[in-house]
Amino acid sequence: MMLQKAHKLSEYEPIVGQQVIDDLHTLADNINQKSVLHVNSTKSGGGVAEILFRLVPLMNELGLNASWEIIKGDQLFFEATKTFHNALQTGMKIAKPQNFEEFERKTTENLRDLRIDADTVFIHDPQPAGMIAQRKQGSDQRWIWRCHIDVSNPASDVWTFLAKYINKFDASIFSAPQFGRNDLQIPQFLVPPSIDPLADKNRELPQTYIDRVLSKYALNAEKPLITQISRFDYAKDPIGVIEAFKLVSKHIECELVLGGSLADDDPEGLEVHSKVLKAAEGRKDIHILLIPPFSDLEINALQRASTIILQKSVKEGFGLTVAEALWKSKPVIAGATGGIPLQIKNGLSGYLVHTVEGAAYRMHYLLRNPDVAARLGRYGRENVRENFLITRQLMDYLLVMVSLRRKELAPILASSGLPKKSDRVQ
Ligand code: UDP
Repeated sequence: MMLQKAHKLSEYEPIVGQQVIDDLHTLADNINQKSVLHVNSTKSGGGVAEILFRLVPLMNELGLNASWEIIKGDQLFFEATKTFHNALQTGMKIAKPQNFEEFERKTTENLRDLRIDADTVFIHDPQPAGMIAQRKQGSDQRWIWRCHIDVSNPASDVWTFLAKYINKFDASIFSAPQFGRNDLQIPQFLVPPSIDPLADKNRELPQTYIDRVLSKYALNAEKPLITQISRFDYAKDPIGVIEAFKLVSKHIECELVLGGSLADDDPEGLEVHSKVLKAAEGRKDIHILLIPPFSDLEINALQRASTIILQKSVKEGFGLTVAEALWKSKPVIAGATGGIPLQIKNGLSGYLVHTVEGAAYRMHYLLRNPDVAARLGRYGRENVRENFLITRQLMDYLLVMVSLRRKELAPILASSGLPKKSDRVQ
């Protein structure tokens, strides 16, 4: 993966304002236990690594001593953790006894090889959860389990196994309120993910570059462009997108782009892709684009060139593509699932839909009412500025750290103009 450069806090000031930067410093200055360690299972690929790559330098700039380690895995371990991941998200009893054994075996090795002595430890997702065994008896450390996946309806065997570890942490963090659990004995915080406005995926682009991308993919810049960027996955309902588009295009000439990557190791992706191709057969106005991984600038350009962006998911984690589209002031029509309703207030910062017909109706309406589309886009961008940028996520992590340390800081926070804990983190 091509790593992009990390940014300085001052570079975010024109976007989020000086107050936010000052608040971050105020909070960080009040944390006496300065060392912070993030642990996950990969340095590249996936949203967790991407956000850590940007967050860790920002924490250091704030005077914390932040670092990032990965646990080691091998094929059997990652098979086990992938199975756990699927079992946790789908509720299916697919884990085998050897998956649990492999998890424990590799955890024991990692416990031996990786020494964790930071004041605050963020353990990301289930893979490294077993590292909690290294917590020193009577130590002043704080261990936080940061869960990025939906564990609201997990397979009970995997969840019971995992909960043994998780209940030993000081706190957990989930990405959406409905992902929380009522059977954990530790505090649970809500910290939704975020996007980085300075990243290649989101930064401003020259129109000449956008035009180049349009002509590379043979897209007609004269007609309204409707776009969904997603992996080829049933959960993203690409067939539903095509059906909705077909309804609208009977009345208004427009073009559809369904763009996404195809991972070699995802057989379902291939199957979905071929069904999508079939559904689009014979249609010159439907463009199914295979976008290579790490094409952040191209995805940015396609989003920016769009008149409307769809994310018609039927199941979703947070839905980063929604935040990315809203940040570009695009009117977004998206499935009312997962973290999407956190980002879209229906009729104010986009439209939430439940059906193909609903999506088609909203598309038609927005194409006929560009002033409404522009207003939704404007509100959507402000909602992202306020709630889903990396500076807010950094602030929330600091708030969690503070709240796990110093109850006496509450009055300082209350008078500092910082968001109240109940506004941001609960
Ligand atoms: N994405 C990408 N290339 C693709 C499809 C998606 O880079 O071909 C990006 C997309 O811009 C977003 C992320 O991958 O940043 C997908 O995150 P999201 O939460 O929307 O869905 P997930 O794929 O995690 O279910």
